[in-house]
Amino acid sequence: MSSFQASILRRNLPNKAFELLRELLQQMAHRLGAGTVVLTEDILTLGEIPSGEPTREKFTLLVSERFSVLLLGQTGSEGNDALKIQNPKYKIEVGISFSKDAIASFLSNLATQLDSNSDTRLFLDTICQTIQVNDALLQSEFTLSLLEIISLDDNSDSTAAPIYPHVSVCQPVEDALRQQVEQERLLNQVIVQIRQSLQLPMILETAVEQVRHFLQVDRLVIYQFIDAKDSGDRSANDKVNLGQNAVKNYDLLMPVQETDGESLETLPATSLPSQIKKSTSKIEGYGRITYEARADDAVLSVLHLNEGVTCFRDTPSYTEKYRKGFTLAIEDIETAYEFPNCLLELMRQTQVKAKLVAPIVVQEELWGLLIAHQCFETRQWSEGEKNFLKHIAEHLAIAIDQSLVYAELQQQKQNLEQRVIERTQALHDALLAAEAASQAKSEFLATMSHELRTPLTSIIGLSATLLRSYLGQLPTGYVLSAQKQQNYLQTIHNSGQHLLGLINDILDLSEVEAGKAILNISEFSLGKLARQSIQTLAESARLKAVKLELDLKLDSVGDRFLADQNRARQILMNLLSNAIKFTPDGGQVLLRVWRENGTAVFQVEDTGIGIPEHQRSLIFQKFQQLEPLIQRTYEGTGLGLALTKQLVELHGGRIEVESTVGDGSTFTVWLPGQPALARKNSSDDQQRTTGYPHGSIVLVEEQEEVATFICDILTAAEYQVVWLMDGYAAVRQIELLMPIAVIVDRQLPGIDGLEISYSLRNSPPTQHIKVLVLTALEMLQDQQSFLAAGVDDYLAKPVQPEQLLHKIQLLMRNG
Ligand code: ADP
Repeated sequence: MSSFQASILRRNLPNKAFELLRELLQQMAHRLGAGTVVLTEDILTLGEIPSGEPTREKFTLLVSERFSVLLLGQTGSEGNDALKIQNPKYKIEVGISFSKDAIASFLSNLATQLDSNSDTRLFLDTICQTIQVNDALLQSEFTLSLLEIISLDDNSDSTAAPIYPHVSVCQPVEDALRQQVEQERLLNQVIVQIRQSLQLPMILETAVEQVRHFLQVDRLVIYQFIDAKDSGDRSANDKVNLGQNAVKNYDLLMPVQETDGESLETLPATSLPSQIKKSTSKIEGYGRITYEARADDAVLSVLHLNEGVTCFRDTPSYTEKYRKGFTLAIEDIETAYEFPNCLLELMRQTQVKAKLVAPIVVQEELWGLLIAHQCFETRQWSEGEKNFLKHIAEHLAIAIDQSLVYAELQQQKQNLEQRVIERTQALHDALLAAEAASQAKSEFLATMSHELRTPLTSIIGLSATLLRSYLGQLPTGYVLSAQKQQNYLQTIHNSGQHLLGLINDILDLSEVEAGKAILNISEFSLGKLARQSIQTLAESARLKAVKLELDLKLDSVGDRFLADQNRARQILMNLLSNAIKFTPDGGQVLLRVWRENGTAVFQVEDTGIGIPEHQRSLIFQKFQQLEPLIQRTYEGTGLGLALTKQLVELHGGRIEVESTVGDGSTFTVWLPGQPALARKNSSDDQQRTTGYPHGSIVLVEEQEEVATFICDILTAAEYQVVWLMDGYAAVRQIELLMPIAVIVDRQLPGIDGLEISYSLRNSPPTQHIKVLVLTALEMLQDQQSFLAAGVDDYLAKPVQPEQLLHKIQLLMRNG
């Protein structure tokens, strides 16, 4: 067999190395997977070779679609000493071939040795069709492994001389082979780097250095286009540069900030292909040399070159060609360019004698150029060198692409991380808020149940005792004195009042929060309102020995004010009662009232316990009480200030607090006067000024208990009750007060209630006022007198609350 002729390598190697090479082929076959065929000389022992002396030729043939290789081993012709052949150190002549033709001819040769009808022969014919030109990468990888095995042998036996077929002077072939291997190695190194590193600047920097060294050129540069569209947009380039911390020429990757015209001037002439037309996409923009490797200092640096661009204006376009993978090789610039030519001038200035340019195409866009410069002599570029530069440029393109993708991923990751952080924070805040709300609510419920239970317990307990006493069911010997009964009743009354206030607060707050609250605007006197509020709380202040004072700074004009008087009163009452509550005995509470143009200002200053700064924003929230629940010393629900703030804001005003712990607090409310639009008609207005939605009722009653009882019932029903004891002066006072109704007891000392009714009916200003007479049960028969006196209705004593309310409501409705 003459198969050695097409071998790329032919050499004497020990048996052992040959076997290792065989193994390498097997491994390769394994990697290539399905469809790969491996044949050895054993195929000939399938019974079809002519008998005789055993073959001296061993081989392993690997055939696949992507890669095929033939490994041949021939023992010497001097005898066939089986023992010798088996000796691992025994040298055999080894040949390796990647040539498609050589492998095909080897196969057909093999086939001739077989029976023409045999299956094996048919099989060999089939696989012969499969052989293709090898995949360059696979071949280079295989070659590297191959060389490793051979160099093992070189090291173990340095005297061994390689044998090259058909070449009498072997050295140049060896050099060519070594160069090819080196080329493969470098290519491999770039690939490995690309796989291992995402630090683009590092890859590019190393690549230019190594490729320059390998090609033995004077200068090797990367020219990067900067898309004119991206010139103002840093991000386009930042993406590519992501992760580069130590790029020495980082600034060169930045888009230039000049105008297009100026930036074109910065085109480094040497880096551009010799003929470039201005009208092409990216080259129409500009670029920069971003990486450079020089042989030594004798070679000029072109990193910061700012040479004219005019040379490139009218040259034909190479962009598209480059984009499609064109490689430009100029052996001698003096002959390649016409003279005179400014490009030529530029080349001369930058010491370019010969150049080789390969495009870097990323995602089908021309990203840049990989350019080799020979500076001091012309150079003929070999196909191998051109291919090599082209391959490197292709791999750099992959690296750049990877880096872009990586940068985008990083960006997305960062965005995601940022979003996760933000969402987590938001969730955390929401959780805290929910926890705080839940805690406040639990505390509120605890507070409420305490606030509700305490008065209810008194009401139920004491009323039960009173009831038993009334029914005579008290334990024998146990007598409830009149004083005690009165005290019980007083407590029941106070508890009821307290509950009513509490419930009203809650209802008010929920009404305001639900946006259902409307303002009942009326004109009223600020001074009067302030005085009334002070008066109402005077007793509780006195009990605590707190000095309660009023400082009114209003003239008669400023005194009249348009707002919801009832709400304004609630605001003052809340602030004043808090001030009294949180001021220790002997302290002082001062209410100041003044006007700031259309706004009324109420200021409540106390010398109380004060509010720590960090808690000041909390106090206006619902259910917030600064005092821990377990240590409660002050009554309250934590609703007052929340409601106050809502009411102030309902008027479009604001509330502020200043406070020093231990010294006291000052709450200031700015309440803007409201437009008069919402005013009701005057008689309505007159009644609203009382601050009670249902108007005021005058009660003429001499008995205090009865009067208090009726007052409470009617107040709870939102009537204002004015209690008059003196029957004689009643009519005159009623004329002044102009209530919606009068309740009069028939049995007043010295005067019959019917007389009062009669007088009212017969005086025009008061004749429309409803009159309800309270009378003893036994006097109910006297209907005639009632009619004569103009009484609207009557009620038997003792008064039943439901009956009273029912009668009053009827009177109002019939009015
Ligand atoms: P409460 O019904 O508990 O008084 P508020 O909403 O009126 O509810 O007040 C909330 C909390 O603000 C009170 O529990 C108290 O801790 C604090 N606070 C209100 N007014 C004063 C004040 N004048 N001095 C000190 N602390 C006050």
